[in-house]
Amino acid sequence: MRKIAILFLMTLTALAATSSTTQPLSAVVTFDSQVTHPAGSQAPGNQYIFFGAHAKPGDKESDDPAMNLSKLTDFNVTTRGRMIPANPASPQYAKVIAPGGAPVVNTGLLYNGGQPNTYRDFATFRITNPAVTSFSVWVLDSTLKSTANGNAGLAFRINGGDPVATCATVRAAFSNEFTRFIVTGASICDVFTIAVLGGTNNSFLSIAGLTFEVIPDPAMAGKKNALVEQPGWLDLNKNGEKDIYEDPTQPLEKRIKNLLKQMTQEEKVGQLNQLVLGRRQDDVKLFPLMRKGEVSSYIWTTTDPALRNQFQRIAVHQSRLGIPIIFGMDMIHGTSTLFPIALGLACSFEPTLLERAQSVSARESRAEGVEWVFAPMCDLARDPRWGRVAETSGEDPYLSALCNAAQVRGFQGTNPAAPDRVAACLKHFVGYSAVTGGRDYNDSEITEWTLRNMHLPSFHAGVKAGVLTLMSSFNTIGGIPAVANHHALTDILRNEWGFTGYVVSDWESVKEMIPWGYAKDKADATRLALNAGNDMDMKAEAYVPNLANEIKAGRVTQATMDEAVRRVLRVKFQVGLFDQPYVDEAAYKPAQKKPEDLALARECVTKSTVLIKNTGVLPLGKAIKKIALIGPVGDDHREILGCWAGRCSWSEPTLASALKAALPQETTLTVVKGCSINTLPGTKTLQDGRIVPDESAPPTDADLKIDEAVQAAKDADVVIMAIGEPKGWTGENASRAFLTLSGNQQALFDAVAATGKPVVAIIFSGRPLALPAVWEKAAAVLYAWQPGSEAGNGLADLLLGKVSPSARLSMSVPRDVAQVPIFYNHYNTGRPRSGQYRDMKDMDAKFWFGYGLTYTTFEYSPVRLIPSTNDKPAEAVVTVANTGKREGIEVVQMYIRQLVCHVGARPKQELRGFKRVALKPGEKADVSFPLTGEVLGFTTLDGKWQVDAGEYQVWIAPHAQDGTPVSYIHN
Ligand code: BGC
Repeated sequence: MRKIAILFLMTLTALAATSSTTQPLSAVVTFDSQVTHPAGSQAPGNQYIFFGAHAKPGDKESDDPAMNLSKLTDFNVTTRGRMIPANPASPQYAKVIAPGGAPVVNTGLLYNGGQPNTYRDFATFRITNPAVTSFSVWVLDSTLKSTANGNAGLAFRINGGDPVATCATVRAAFSNEFTRFIVTGASICDVFTIAVLGGTNNSFLSIAGLTFEVIPDPAMAGKKNALVEQPGWLDLNKNGEKDIYEDPTQPLEKRIKNLLKQMTQEEKVGQLNQLVLGRRQDDVKLFPLMRKGEVSSYIWTTTDPALRNQFQRIAVHQSRLGIPIIFGMDMIHGTSTLFPIALGLACSFEPTLLERAQSVSARESRAEGVEWVFAPMCDLARDPRWGRVAETSGEDPYLSALCNAAQVRGFQGTNPAAPDRVAACLKHFVGYSAVTGGRDYNDSEITEWTLRNMHLPSFHAGVKAGVLTLMSSFNTIGGIPAVANHHALTDILRNEWGFTGYVVSDWESVKEMIPWGYAKDKADATRLALNAGNDMDMKAEAYVPNLANEIKAGRVTQATMDEAVRRVLRVKFQVGLFDQPYVDEAAYKPAQKKPEDLALARECVTKSTVLIKNTGVLPLGKAIKKIALIGPVGDDHREILGCWAGRCSWSEPTLASALKAALPQETTLTVVKGCSINTLPGTKTLQDGRIVPDESAPPTDADLKIDEAVQAAKDADVVIMAIGEPKGWTGENASRAFLTLSGNQQALFDAVAATGKPVVAIIFSGRPLALPAVWEKAAAVLYAWQPGSEAGNGLADLLLGKVSPSARLSMSVPRDVAQVPIFYNHYNTGRPRSGQYRDMKDMDAKFWFGYGLTYTTFEYSPVRLIPSTNDKPAEAVVTVANTGKREGIEVVQMYIRQLVCHVGARPKQELRGFKRVALKPGEKADVSFPLTGEVLGFTTLDGKWQVDAGEYQVWIAPHAQDGTPVSYIHN
C-alpha cells in the first residue's frame, strides 16, 4: 500500500470564512490521500459497498442501496443515488441515478461545477453499533479532476457542517485510487457525509465504492454480546434462563420483586437517574454509564427512532441486568401534528377533544421511541404574567381536572404498553403557577385550603384517571421546595390518593435546593428529595454519586430507596419496555401526521378560538371582494405553532396561504406584514467592525412599513389583523410584566384602525393580553391563542363561516395588568362593594372566564329547580333558545356557591357543570344539571370530600359572573 503523507486536518475554525453551518463535533477525522488499493480493504470483516461495474457476482455487492444497507451492519448508509455503468467499455464511469430513476447528471460522474465551497453530498451515514467509536472509510474515487481546481475535491463532513477533511488532489482519469478517512471518537449520534466539494470550475468525481473498516475498541476486546432475544422473551441478564422478571406471563409485582432482588446498590441508584440525550458531544460519555446500569431514563431531545434503538441496545445488551431505558419528552400540545396549546384546547369545553388530540400525540411519540411524555400540565392559571399559563387548562379547577384527566386517557389509553400509547406525567406538583409576581421559578404561598380546593383537584383527577408518573415543581411553598415537599409527595399523593407510579423532579431541581438555601450540598439535597418522595432525579446528577452514601450513613433508609426503585420499575413494566424495548423504525414515518390527524387539528383550531367581539362583520360575507391581511403573524409559519413546537415541520400553511386557498377567485387578498412580531435591541458598530448591543440606541424593526399597511387597509373592504406576542415570550422562563402587543404592533393596529375600515383582529398569544384599544376599535376579535399545525385552515373556516366559533375563555382576560392575578372564582369578601382601586374604575375583568360568542345568539330562561326524589338527585334546569339566524353551539355553564361553610369560606362562584348544546335557529332545549354531592362539595383540610347541608346559590349562565342565581337548599 502506497501511502502518501497524511495531508491535513481542517478544523471548523479554519474554515470559518467559508462556513455555512457549524455543528458540534464529537469525532476527529484525518485522512490518507491517494491510497491505492489498500490491502485488506475488502478483507472479511470489513463492510463495503461497490457501485455499478464493481459489483461482481458472489460479492453480495450491488448497486441497489437497499442491499448495501443490509450488508453494512455497523453503519447505516444512504447514498444520494445509485450508480450504474454508463459505458460498458469504461466501467469505471458510473452514472448517478436519482432514486426516482432520472439521471441527475449525464456526464456519468458526480459533478459540481463552478460553485466553489459548495457540497454535493454523495453518501450519508451513521454508526449503528454503539461499540464502534473508531472506523475508517475508504472511498474508491476512480476519477477526480477539475479544470480549474480551486477547492475541488472529496470532502468529509460531520453533522451537516463544513468539511473537516478534504482531498483536493487532482488526478488523472480512471486512476482507481482509494482515499481513506480515519475517524476516531465517533458517536452513534453523529451524521457523517461524503461529499464532492465544488471548485472554481467544473469538478468531476466518480465514486465507485465505499469500504468501511471498524477499528476495534480495546475496551470492548474479548467482550461478546450474549444472545438476549429469545422466542417470546428477552434474556436481559444474559444467564441463559428465563427469570421471573423476564417472563411476560408473570404478574407485575412478582416481576418487580424478582428484578429488585438481583440488583446491586449501584444499579438501584441508577434506576433513579435521568439524563439528557441528544447533545452530540456528550453522548459518547453515556455509553459506559449505561453499561454500568447508571442511567434509568433519558430526556430525548432528538427524534430519530433508529438512534433511540441504538442507545437502548447498549442498556439492554451491554448492561448486566438489561433494564431498558425509558425515553421521555415534552409533547405538550402535539408531536409531529401540533394542536392548539392546552390553554386554547381547554376553551373548547370539550374534554374528549383533548383526549383525542393527545391520543394522536401518543401514537406519534411512541412511534418515535418516546414512551413517556411530560404532560399534561395541571397547574392552575391565575396570573397571565406567568408564561407557562399557555401549557395549562386555565384558571378553573373543575374544567382543568376534566381536561387533564382526559389528556391522561388520551396518552395512556387502557393499555400504556400498546404501540400507540405512552405514560403520561402530571406536572408540576405542586403550586408552580402561584409564583410571586408571575415570575417563573419563584416561591409560592398557598394555604392548605387553597391548595386542596384550587391547585390539587386537577392532579387528583389525573391520578384517578390512572396516570403513571408525576413531576415535582421548581417552586417552594412556605419555604419548602416542591421537590422536598413530603406533605405533597407522600402524605397526599401516596398516602391519601394511593398513587403507585413514580415522581420525577423537574430539570435539576434537586440541586437547585442549594441556591434556594434549603440544602447544603448535593448529598443533602439527595436525602431531602428522596425522603420526601421524589423518586427520580432529572438531570441534577445528585442521586448517583450520593445516595448509596446517604443510605450507609443512615440518613435514607434502604426501604425508602427500594420503594422508589420499585415505582420506577413498575412503570417501565407497565409501558411494556421489558418485553419490547425497541421501537419499529419502519413504523415511524407512517405513524406521523396522518390526514385524519390534520383534520382533527383543524377541528381543534375551530373549537379553541374564542370569538370575543363581533359587530356583525363575521363571518365574512360574499359582498367582500378585497381583503387586506395585515400584521406579523399573517404569513408566518413559526408564530402560529406554540410554545412547544420542537417536532413539527415549520412549514405548515400560514393564515395567508390558507385564506388564499379558501377564498373565491374573485376575492383579492393583499398581505402586508407591517412590522415584526417584536423589535430587536439597538446596536452599535465598534471600530474593529464588530456589532454589539447598545441600550442607548432605539430598537430596530426591519419590517416596519406602517404606510404600506395603511394603504392596503384603505384599498380593502375589510382588514384582518394577525397580531399578538412572540411565541418565544410564552411558555417556560417567559414571564411578562406587561400584557401588551409586542414591538410596533400597537402602532400598526392604531394606524390601520384609524382608516375606518372594519378590522377583524386575530390575537395570537400564549396568555390573555390586555388590549383595550383592540377591544374597542376592532369590529371583531378572534382570540386564537397559538393554534398549531392547522392554524391557517381552521381560522379560515371560522372567518368564512364554514364553521361557527364555539369556544369559551378558559382564563379571564383582564382590563389591565394592574388587576392580575384576576380570576372569577375569588371570594365574596366581607365588603363585596368596596376595595376597588382608587385609580381604576372597573374591578371586573374585561372578559370573564367562560365568555365567548358565536355567529348566532341565545337566550336563557330563569333557572328552575326540580327537587330530589328517592331515586334521583335534585336538578337545576334552564331552557336555552337559539334566537339568531344561524345554527350554533352554546356552552351552557353551571356555577354554584355555598353560602355558609365553617371549614373555610367558599368562592363567590365555582363552575360545577357545563354542556355544549347545538341548536338550530329558533330551536330550544332544556339543559339540566344534577345537584349531587359531587357537584356541591369541597375538600377538607385533611383531604376528605365533604358535602354540607344548607343553602347554595346556583347559576346557569353563558359565562362566569352572568345570570341570576337561584337559591337551593341541600338537605
Ligand atoms: C420544565 C418541564 C419539562 C422539563 C423537561 C423543565 O425545565 O419545567 O416542564 O418537562 O424541563 O424538558
